[in-house]
Amino acid sequence: MKHSKLVEETILYVKKEQQFTLLVLTNLQKIDHEKIFLDYNCQSLFAFCTDILKYNDSEASVRVNAMRLLGQNLGVSEKIESGQLTLSSAAMIQRFFVAEEKENNEQLTSQKKTQIIEEMQGKSARATQEALNAKRSNPRPKTYNLVVNEETYTKIEHISHEMGTKDQSKILNKLCDEHDEVSSLKEELLCCQQLLAKARTELSKKVPANPPAGGEPMPVQAVPEAKSRFIPTEVKRAVLLRAGGQCEHRSHVNGDRCKMKNSLEFEHCKPYSIDGSNDVENIKLLCRGHNIREAIKVFGAQKISPYLHKKT
Ligand SMILES: [Zn+2]
Repeated sequence: MKHSKLVEETILYVKKEQQFTLLVLTNLQKIDHEKIFLDYNCQSLFAFCTDILKYNDSEASVRVNAMRLLGQNLGVSEKIESGQLTLSSAAMIQRFFVAEEKENNEQLTSQKKTQIIEEMQGKSARATQEALNAKRSNPRPKTYNLVVNEETYTKIEHISHEMGTKDQSKILNKLCDEHDEVSSLKEELLCCQQLLAKARTELSKKVPANPPAGGEPMPVQAVPEAKSRFIPTEVKRAVLLRAGGQCEHRSHVNGDRCKMKNSLEFEHCKPYSIDGSNDVENIKLLCRGHNIREAIKVFGAQKISPYLHKKT
């Protein structure tokens, strides 16, 4: 084969590769929107890309970031398809947007984003990175200096050993998540106490404190049990025992059980909103991700999405 023919053919294949890349990103968008990756026991789209699609970490990160940029309707798909924007440039631009918004605690406008994308068109990956670096606002490194006593140090060492990591930021993150869980349990407890107090008041209205001496005992009317979405503690205990403190979701593909033991939530199999009961059989223990996926299956991604960014 003549060299010119070989190059011509390679250019054609690269063009086709760009078209397939775009198809992969479009499908990843759908998988992400419906959180279908959770059906495969992957806790994130990134994990789905590495575990199921077999991309390495860097390939997965590039695709997830490029997909997020694509989802912002800034005309990126046309640019990737035509080769004006490479996959890695799209990923770099997305990382830049996220970092800038976080840094300045302010959303970049669509106009500003489009302008930056236009500027990066036709640049190599290295040139894109250099151009974006030049645009960065002054990065302020966020550090958290911690001085602890011997007892706290031992506790942190223990948690570090249990988590199998020495990464202080991961340890701190886990402790914060657990604090959130305890806070939500406290909230639940408060609601239960309020319900109990209300029931006591109702009951005291029906049974006088000092029944008349010698008289017939006052008939005690049963107070109808208020239907509550709060799952009784004894039910939670039974479900926890049954689940062994691990997410109860099983993969639809191979039946493997989800391995998550953190951020677990109690969920109604038949949703409470459509008359699901608080019986042990109707309650399952799910990790946050699988809980969201179940909700999407019942109510649809559209209805659930407003709740996803409240606390995830
Ligand atoms: Zn799970």
